[in-house]
Amino acid sequence: MLLTFKLRHERDFSIELIKARKVAEFALTSDSYSSAVVKHIGLKSAIACQILKKYVRNKHIKTIHNVMLTIPGQGVKVQGMELYISCLKLRLDISHLPKFEKVNQVECDKEFAFVTVTVPDKPLYEPTWFIGIDRNTTGHVAVAANPATGKVWKLGSSCQHIHQKYKNARKRLQKQGRYKEVKEIKQRESQIVRDQNHKIAKKIIDIAVQNACGIKMEQLDGIRNNRKQARSFRYSLHSWSFYQLQQFIEYKAKLNGVTVAYVDPSYTSQQCSRCGLIGNRDDKVFSCSHCGHVDHADVNASFNIALRPSLEEGTGRFKPDRDGLKGRIDTPQEAPA
Ligand SMILES: [Zn+2]
Repeated sequence: MLLTFKLRHERDFSIELIKARKVAEFALTSDSYSSAVVKHIGLKSAIACQILKKYVRNKHIKTIHNVMLTIPGQGVKVQGMELYISCLKLRLDISHLPKFEKVNQVECDKEFAFVTVTVPDKPLYEPTWFIGIDRNTTGHVAVAANPATGKVWKLGSSCQHIHQKYKNARKRLQKQGRYKEVKEIKQRESQIVRDQNHKIAKKIIDIAVQNACGIKMEQLDGIRNNRKQARSFRYSLHSWSFYQLQQFIEYKAKLNGVTVAYVDPSYTSQQCSRCGLIGNRDDKVFSCSHCGHVDHADVNASFNIALRPSLEEGTGRFKPDRDGLKGRIDTPQEAPA
C-alpha cells in the first residue's frame, strides 16, 4: 500500500518552485523528455526530469496550476529517523511514520513535503464478526457496536460547537476583509477535526483487532437517504469530515489486517436492530412499536450496520456473504433496492 505523509519542511523553495513552473510550461510545448532541453532554466535535473515526465505530451493539462518539486525515490536517502534529499539539501524528520519498505517519491510545495512510501499490507485476518460503525454529526462522532457481545463504544464528541464558533468568527472577519485570518481559522478547525478523526480511527481499529472483528460502515455518498438526516447534514461539518474518518479507518485497517466492508445506508437509523422492522426515531431516541425495543438511536443504527450484508466493492450490489445475517432471527425481508 502506498501512503503519503504531509510534513512541514520549514524551507523557502520559492525560487525552485518558479523554476519548476517554467519547466512545466516548457514541457507542454515540447516533445523531449531530456532534462538537457530545460537546462537553461536551472532546476536540478533530477527534479526537472520528473516534471517533464508529467507534463510532456500531456494533453489533459491545459493550464498549469501548482507545480511541485518532485523527487523520485532514488533521490531520497533514509538516514536513521530522517530522510535526506540531496538535490534540495533537505532533511525531514520521519520518526512518526510507520515502518515502510521504500520511499516512492517526495513532492514539495512552498510549505509541505508530501512523502509517499510503500508500507507492507498486513495479511487480512478472518473476522469472527463485524463491528458496526455509525458516523454522526451531532453527539458522538462515531458509535461502534459489536453484536456478538452487545458491547457499544461511543467515540469522540462532535465538533459541531467548534464549527459553529469558528463559523461565526469567520463571517465576522470576512465582512471586515481579513481574509488571511479567515484562512487561518479554517486551517485551525480542520486540524482539530483531523486530529480527532485520527484518534477515533485508531480506537476503532484497536477495538476491531482486540475482538478479532472486521469493520462495517455505511456506504455514504454525502448524505443519508432520509430527509431528516439530510437536513442536519446541511448544518454539519460538511461531508469531508465523514469521508476523512473513513479514509483514516481504511488505511489503519490495512496496516493491521482488518477487513473493512460497506453496507447499504438506507433506514439504518429507522430500522429496529432487534426485530428488523421499522420503528420510530426521535432525535437520539429509537423506539420500536413492534417489539418494544428502546435504545439510543446511534447505538441502534450501529447494530443495524454491523448486521447488514456487505456491499460488493464499487458496485453497490449485495455480496452473498453470511456474516451480515448471522445471528439475527428476524432478518429484514425488504432488502432496499
Ligand atoms: Zn423491534
